[in-house]
Amino acid sequence: MSNSSVDPSTLYVVATPIGNLADITARACAVLAGVNAILAEDTRVSATLLRHHGIATPVSALHQHNEARRGARIVERLAAGESLALISDAGTPGISDPGAHLVREVRAAGHAVVPIPGPSALTAVLSVAGIDGPVLFAGFLPARASARQASIKSFESARVAWVAYESPHRLEAFVADLVVSLEPTRPVIIARELTKRFESVVRLPVARLPEWLAADPNHARGEFVVVIEAPPIALDEGGQTAWSLLDVLLEELPLAQAVRLAQKVTGARRNDLYAYALQHQSARGAGAEDAAAVVSPDPDADPDAPQG
Ligand code: SAM
Repeated sequence: MSNSSVDPSTLYVVATPIGNLADITARACAVLAGVNAILAEDTRVSATLLRHHGIATPVSALHQHNEARRGARIVERLAAGESLALISDAGTPGISDPGAHLVREVRAAGHAVVPIPGPSALTAVLSVAGIDGPVLFAGFLPARASARQASIKSFESARVAWVAYESPHRLEAFVADLVVSLEPTRPVIIARELTKRFESVVRLPVARLPEWLAADPNHARGEFVVVIEAPPIALDEGGQTAWSLLDVLLEELPLAQAVRLAQKVTGARRNDLYAYALQHQSARGAGAEDAAAVVSPDPDADPDAPQG
């Protein structure tokens, strides 16, 4: 393949598969084939992928231990007109992987840094999590128990869904920390081995996670990404619940409008507000028309607006 798919003096940050070798974009393959050299976290891991896709570009190692040291030489190569690609062992570089330091250095030197988006365990799990509100990305939590518990506390204070990466040997300790930190009914999604042979995604109340882990030794094997769903009720600053605001609005307004206003004011999740409004209406003997507005999508919603 010619290198017409790449520009000179440019660093491409290229996403690669998180398991299934076929999960790579056509553009990623063209860029990897077209650059002068690929900088890979572990050259042996990347060799398998590159061989699979018939890419023969020279590869050299760039990992967390030499990222800072190699920056100056990489900038020199870009200044000489070369185009380079950065890849990690899996997924998107810079997402709990090396890359951030080099990206800053290359940009500071005035060269282009271009993303070639694709797989990440973060976006893969969110695509099947069914979360329609804001999400925080925690990456790997600290290994030390006290620091990990402090992290959990700080993510919890935002009262939104959050996502953590975890290694198999720390999953049990992480789950134990979640059990003591969260309400027992709080839903948690554990996605294991995404895109691989033993892929599984479970959604359980946090109190049932230890039992699920103990049920089968395979449940703690492989790679994991964990989603802690948002707490169901958001409190506004004055301490009034979203529910009591919704109660008042429903006295005066049609259901969809009351839900929309309650969402704007409190930031609570739209689905939770709809579910509550439905209960409220049926408790007051509302007719079928209002009930239908709850079970079907909000007819007035802007499909392009971010959902909260
Ligand atoms: N850069 C990668 C990305 O974009 O997802 C993440 C790299 S980080 C070093 C590795 C962690 O990502 C794993 O410990 C696990 O938490 C998560 N991960 C990577 N691949 C995964 C997979 N196939 N299934 C579930 N989690 C995965």
